[in-house]
Amino acid sequence: DASDQRLRAIDLSNFSITKTTTPKQLTANEKLIFGRFFTDHMLSLEWTAADGWLDPKITPYQNLSLDPATCVFHYAFEAFEGMKAYKDKTGQVRLFRPDMNMKRLNKSVARIALPTFEGEKVIELIKNFCRLEERFIPSQRGYSLYIRPNMIGTQKTLGVGPPGSALLYVIASPVGPYYPTGFKAISLEATTYAVRAWPGGVGASKLGANYAPCIVPQMQAATRGFQQNLWLFEDVDERTGEKEDFVTEVGTMNLFTAIVNKDGQKELMTAPLDGTILEGVVRDSILQLARERLVPEGWKVSEKKFHMREVADAAREGRLLEVFGSGTAAVVSPVRSISYKGELVNCGLREDQQVGPVTLRMKDWIEGIQYGEEDHPWSWKV
Ligand code: PMP
Repeated sequence: DASDQRLRAIDLSNFSITKTTTPKQLTANEKLIFGRFFTDHMLSLEWTAADGWLDPKITPYQNLSLDPATCVFHYAFEAFEGMKAYKDKTGQVRLFRPDMNMKRLNKSVARIALPTFEGEKVIELIKNFCRLEERFIPSQRGYSLYIRPNMIGTQKTLGVGPPGSALLYVIASPVGPYYPTGFKAISLEATTYAVRAWPGGVGASKLGANYAPCIVPQMQAATRGFQQNLWLFEDVDERTGEKEDFVTEVGTMNLFTAIVNKDGQKELMTAPLDGTILEGVVRDSILQLARERLVPEGWKVSEKKFHMREVADAAREGRLLEVFGSGTAAVVSPVRSISYKGELVNCGLREDQQVGPVTLRMKDWIEGIQYGEEDHPWSWKV
């Protein structure tokens, strides 16, 4: 609208960089703990409702100073992203599908009345930031720089309304492989007393407010020896008219199931993007690769609702091939079993097996692209 026209767009020509005078010591690769160590700098962009986007800047990594009445602390005006920079064999730094993360962040912030932005410009800024922090990006396969874009409402007010100011900032943390000693298949507990998201809700947005409530169910699953919890959503199965527990996501990953279906065809399934599922970048990549590379081998690839009873039936009938989670942190995470209403559903792995063939091929394909071993438009040179 007309008032928006008067607001400033992000101006890359006024981008300033203030370098640290106290560079940090690098942490040894084997001592990296996810999200614990950060690089020397941060990227920040302030926004005000009166002016729009102020000049982007890189500064030394530092504390934020915010009034205790700042709206983010009271009403959770916060959305974030998770993406990675990888260093290939030649030392070239690469981002994996950063356009997808910017698209998702814009969708998330718009849902909570925070300002949207031009994704291409923020990618340019993130590239600059990555070049500046290059020494923090380990070069071994499996290692990467985890990048955390974050937007918060910064207006000082207890009034509940659209924030009059915001801060988009980006920090980064060098991280090691999710499975440093090779795959270890995980066991899940299906949560039946709480739901993560619901139709008409905000489960498809990457809002901080979606994450805090998920910790207690995860802790409870852990007390019973399960590494993650599986999120279900009860709904009527239109085919039978019966209420069923539909499979949605696992912990902070999307979930894939490979079965031999009732027609005897191999089928790779994941829940559809119906607003209750986070639109995972790895999920989308797996679907595209599966359509390109598994369908010619006779596979069917489906984004469709499926429920726990179908999974349990397939397991009982020897038709459940593999179950795995997908996400930026691990790429894929093989699942050994799912505890569901007192039944332990075995997800197709032999006891001595930690990963199934489809899960492993997906990891190899995607990592090959991320680390520049396969030339692919998804890998953006920095
Ligand atoms: N679901 C949830 C709830 C998540 O937090 C994540 C991690 N961003 C994912 C799925 C996987 O998304 P992506 O493949 O983009 O990492």
